Amino acid sequence: MSSYPITLAIHGGAGTILPEHLTPAKEQAYHQALEAALKAGYALLAEGSDSLLAVEAAVRVLEDSDLFNAGRGSVFTSDGTHEMEASMMCGRTLNAGAVAGVRNIKNPVTLSRHVLDNPDYVYLSGDGAAEFARLHDVVEEPDEYFYSQFRYEQWQAMRTSEKMILDHSDERKFGTVGAVALDLQGNLAAATSTGGLTNKQYGRIGDSSVVGAGVYANNETCAISCTGYGEFFLRGVVAYDISCLMEYKGLSLQAAAEKVIMEKQVALGGEGGVIGVDQSGELALVFNSIGMYRGKIGAEGKTQVAIFGENA
Ligand code: ASP
Repeated sequence: MSSYPITLAIHGGAGTILPEHLTPAKEQAYHQALEAALKAGYALLAEGSDSLLAVEAAVRVLEDSDLFNAGRGSVFTSDGTHEMEASMMCGRTLNAGAVAGVRNIKNPVTLSRHVLDNPDYVYLSGDGAAEFARLHDVVEEPDEYFYSQFRYEQWQAMRTSEKMILDHSDERKFGTVGAVALDLQGNLAAATSTGGLTNKQYGRIGDSSVVGAGVYANNETCAISCTGYGEFFLRGVVAYDISCLMEYKGLSLQAAAEKVIMEKQVALGGEGGVIGVDQSGELALVFNSIGMYRGKIGAEGKTQVAIFGENA
């Protein structure tokens, strides 16, 4: 039997999440959604499934909730539409799949899985990605499915401006979702999914679907999923930078994640966080914002979810 400790971590976005803005009922709803996502992914790991299936399952639960800026809860673009991005990477093969600018796809992470499984492509966008989705019978939903009063009001408040804002908005919050996992065979995987920024235009794409920026997995180092101000995470090539610090400088996952998020991103002006796991089952949940919706099940099998507080 294998000796790898199955491990899973998820995030539902980071940012200026202020306790006074969360009612107890809402806080409880976030906790429940995070726990449900952990449960879905961990059940697969526990029965011996691979880490790719586990991260996809966990992210799908978060995409199906309207609490997070991904799938169903995606924010509005400046045109009043929802354009989503998602990505997945396999640490064993270094295969990756990503989609950007997709509309009406219920679970963009599943579409990115189909791209990952296709040997000819890594990154598809817009109409082409929609055609590819139909070819693979990926479930679509009408515009109404993605509508929520809360997101609509967020967008209305921004509409007349040229600005685009991060999720939840008056303050900076990022509702992107993601998962990282280690399976029984010692394989790492990562997935990230987002609706991007409220009022985005010009086909703006953030870091979430960009391999190396918002997602990365390599069995030799770590699996990483990011959430934060995409323009800064793109410029910092955040996920790959953490992997590189481990590979070339011998840093631990925690030290590498702290260096990138607490030092390099802060210096650049980037706000947000990452979740990561390595082959020993060490987890890192590091953010430089006030809070990050997050959860983990470590080697000891205990489920923990949190929103505020320390990097853990
Ligand atoms: N990183 C995402 C983006 O810039 C936002 C987020 O993490 O919520 O599109």
